[in-house]
Amino acid sequence: MKDPSAPAVTKALLQWYKKHARKLPWRQDPAPYHVWLSEIMLQQTRIETVKAYYARFLDALPDIAHLADAPEDTLLKLWEGLGYYSRVRNMKKAAQIVMRDYDGTLPHTVEELRALPGIGPYTAGAIAAIAFSGRASFVDGNVLRVMARLRADTRDISSEAVKRAVQHELEEDFLPERDRDCGTFFQALMELGETVCVPAGAPLCTRCPVASFCAAYRLGDTLSYPVKRAKKPRRIEKRTVLLLSDRTHVALRKRPRKGLLAGLYEFPSVPGHLTQRELRRLLREEEADALRILALPDAKHLFTHVEWHMKGYLVYVEHLPEKALLSGNARMSPLFFADRTDLDTVYAIPSAFRTYTEAARHATG
Ligand code: SF4
Repeated sequence: MKDPSAPAVTKALLQWYKKHARKLPWRQDPAPYHVWLSEIMLQQTRIETVKAYYARFLDALPDIAHLADAPEDTLLKLWEGLGYYSRVRNMKKAAQIVMRDYDGTLPHTVEELRALPGIGPYTAGAIAAIAFSGRASFVDGNVLRVMARLRADTRDISSEAVKRAVQHELEEDFLPERDRDCGTFFQALMELGETVCVPAGAPLCTRCPVASFCAAYRLGDTLSYPVKRAKKPRRIEKRTVLLLSDRTHVALRKRPRKGLLAGLYEFPSVPGHLTQRELRRLLREEEADALRILALPDAKHLFTHVEWHMKGYLVYVEHLPEKALLSGNARMSPLFFADRTDLDTVYAIPSAFRTYTEAARHATG
């Protein structure tokens, strides 16, 4: 059954957004490449963090042609710290297809956009609606939260079937009349979710443009929505990370081409949490004479399904170990020494190692 308040909700949101939308760099000039890049960067990453990355990326690769030609290490360095690196690799693959098949211009329709690597239904809808003013929809966690509260909807929003159903209901009942307002409407829902109907803590209902239509607000029960199934706990992996340094360089290796953090650079590490004594023994076995060993702070990094709990040591050595465990094996490429400047400018080291990258800068500075 059609939601009778839907047209009024849509109108209120469009008016509110006109006045309250934050000025964000990708909104100033919503060219297709800009919308694409920002939407990909904003998956899993906060707006404040994305701003600097977005500016740096566009500076280095101002259009699709530059992206299609960019060397992989340049791309990974520009993405360093954003995580989920397959996103930028897929962008490059898609850019190459756009250069080959579309003369360097992104296609307009959701179907054509979805056929490109790394562009799913959400990003395709966002590009079609925002950059090309098309009649398209795109739904993220903010939209799902706002809609669940607005309708006191008890369906589990972590279910893919529920997400699809909500998107369908939005398309049926809530889309603005004019195609060119669709992008604005979904951006308004998201903006409301980010700034007013917030995910953490109580929503700011007294500032909400759709409070008079909101069922959860009427029931005085906003925090019971949205309903979400509890996530499976992450697997915990303990690792000991080693900064092997000759005082001016630090040892790095490239991760395998497939799997977690594929193709990025890392400090060598071994499974488990080693004591200094165990580490000394390991280094002797690896024929790397440690001149001095210093304990570094512990660090933790959360991935989607796994948590790394890391212990770290700075180990001063005369030369790099040559045996398999530390220096490389069938999966790992060999260790090499990198100097401080190259840590900053050449090698993309994931933010999982941030604590140790900082320590490496001090150790080699
Ligand atoms: Fe969210 Fe409150 Fe607005 Fe309802 S009234 S949509 S709960 S901010």
